[in-house]
Amino acid sequence: MTSVKRYKTEILVIGCGAAGMACASAAAETGASVIAADERKTSGGVLPQCVHKGFGLGRYGKEMTGPEYNEEEYRHFENSGAVYMPGSRVLSISSEGDAGKALLSHPGGICEVYFMECVLATGCLERSIWSLGLAGTRPLGVYTAGEAQEMIELGGYDIGDRIFILGSGDIGQIMARRFRQLGKTVICMAEIKDHLGGMKRNQEECIKAYDIPVMLRTTITEIHGYPHLTGVTVHHIDTDEYEYIECETLISSLGLIPDKSLADGLMITDANGNKAYPEWLHFCGNADYVHDITDSASSQGEKLGRMLANKLHQ
Ligand SMILES: Cc1cc2nc3c(=O)[nH]c(=O)nc-3n(C[C@H](O)[C@H](O)[C@H](O)COP(=O)(O)OP(=O)(O)OC[C@H]3O[C@@H](n4cnc5c(N)ncnc54)[C@H](O)[C@@H]3O)c2cc1C
Repeated sequence: MTSVKRYKTEILVIGCGAAGMACASAAAETGASVIAADERKTSGGVLPQCVHKGFGLGRYGKEMTGPEYNEEEYRHFENSGAVYMPGSRVLSISSEGDAGKALLSHPGGICEVYFMECVLATGCLERSIWSLGLAGTRPLGVYTAGEAQEMIELGGYDIGDRIFILGSGDIGQIMARRFRQLGKTVICMAEIKDHLGGMKRNQEECIKAYDIPVMLRTTITEIHGYPHLTGVTVHHIDTDEYEYIECETLISSLGLIPDKSLADGLMITDANGNKAYPEWLHFCGNADYVHDITDSASSQGEKLGRMLANKLHQ
């Protein structure tokens, strides 16, 4: 029988993306003991898959790719004194006395971490196409924009041609450009609103500059093909017309949702009847709210880390 290892720390940071690394570094440099755990084996969260330029202008005064930004942040993080636990997924967090405890699955087995303060820097989830309640099949060939980005940039996969993109979020726009650079046919980007979403900069540099066809006031109502996708039925809202469009790959870019799932069930009702999370629980980066610019996720993490360390050592 193996025994469960127990660790004690002042601050546990869950997630070592841009926000978590900055939070852990700042807290450790301000004098707190910090454990920073991430389920991934490498640091940076989504940064390694963002191979284009557009990071770090505010923080480093130069345009960097996601991996370059990650390298800079990691260098700082690894010298900060925070204890890094890669490959360690936090399974649950709970109150324990006047602070808390986390259960982790890591390469050495299951362990417990007892902490005074806990920061969720767990990023966000992409809204799935299946949340739209579409008619038809559930075939292969359907991905969120972030999944497609990870498969292509980190896995080296070819995820098909004749690509239809539903939704016009930033990651979808960045992927539309990437597909074009890879020589793929992007049939169109369909958006239910009367204007594109995302940042102006991506609209200019990804959609306009690469001549991506756009259908506004358009959505899809049915998915066709099994086991592989063969096409979609689109609905043009203003004319109330339906059209069948053949495609091999369907990408959704429908928005991001902060991932607070570890905090589910932790809300408590205070003496005034108000619902609140326990005082030891904090959020930063995309787990708090969706940051358009990564520098902003890093700065928020940094401020929170410093504040928590000062609070513990005042
Ligand atoms: C899919 C996606 C693609 C993006 N692509 C671009 C882009 O191309 N260009 C651009 O400018 N911006 C892009 N962004 C935006 C930008 O990169 C982010 O805003 C920023 O990097 C978010 O940092 P973060 O630390 O909050 O989250 P993340 O980078 O998502 O980091 C969260 C980390 O928490 C870990 N984690 C989650 N749950 C647990 C758990 N239970 N236990 C342990 N670890 C856990 C995750 O594995 C991850 O490593 C993208 C965002 C997303 C979500």
